[in-house]
Amino acid sequence: METVTNAAQDHHGESFDPGFSTHSFFRRVKNLPDMPTANDDQHETRAKELDALGKGKQALRVRTCGSRAFFKGYPVRSECKIRVCPSCAARVASKNAEHVVNAVILFANQVAYLLTMPPMRNLEDSWDRFRQALAKVRRLAAFRRAVAGGVSAIETRLGADGKWQVHAHLILDADGLDLATIRAAWRKLTALPGTNWHGDFQFHRDPKVDLRYLRKFAEYICKADTWCPPPANLPTPATQNRLEQLLAVMRGKHLLIAWGTGRKPKESET
Ligand SMILES: [Zn+2]
Repeated sequence: METVTNAAQDHHGESFDPGFSTHSFFRRVKNLPDMPTANDDQHETRAKELDALGKGKQALRVRTCGSRAFFKGYPVRSECKIRVCPSCAARVASKNAEHVVNAVILFANQVAYLLTMPPMRNLEDSWDRFRQALAKVRRLAAFRRAVAGGVSAIETRLGADGKWQVHAHLILDADGLDLATIRAAWRKLTALPGTNWHGDFQFHRDPKVDLRYLRKFAEYICKADTWCPPPANLPTPATQNRLEQLLAVMRGKHLLIAWGTGRKPKESET
């Protein structure tokens, strides 16, 4: 709420005149900065999907998300903060992309990698395995030696076979990373017991080649599509309980991991 108020204040530079016309008032509310919103149809469709899952409480919150309200005299939009709400997901995605841009642009060396793991039926298991593998690989001497920091945006894609393909796009502030060693470690860490399946740690691209596209790349890796599937986009039997699993598992999960030089620059530095 505080952020919203500040944003409104910064944008307009003054408090709202109580003598405004209704028309300009609503235009101002509609154009509040930094607050992407979905249209009402999208909210209604998602709310119906939640109703169908017996999640009436969440459905109501999504239905009323974005309604106009006042906070300390400033017009704001309410936020339901439910992960699968189209408006709230868009806000999280754009906030994360902003962080990626602000951090990565200051990296001494920027290199992007794609991290995968074997597809799994259980989203929670898959997510936990992924996070543990990432934490372990970050502790390796070969990794720590070369990496000053990084950002990692995690995605939860559901394959047509009904298995979750948890993966991440990682941008490292790294110099001389021994990729062969790290890759071997990652494969071992993500191997599924009793199978030949393992994930991979691959070179993806070098964002420094064209920093003009950094924002686009950041928006791409932080996109909400996989953890907030667009409403009315759950067509096959394999994806029927997709929403239910996302709702149960993704609550409170950090979609963006940042450490070292990838952490948010301090207030005084921005
Ligand atoms: Zn919402």
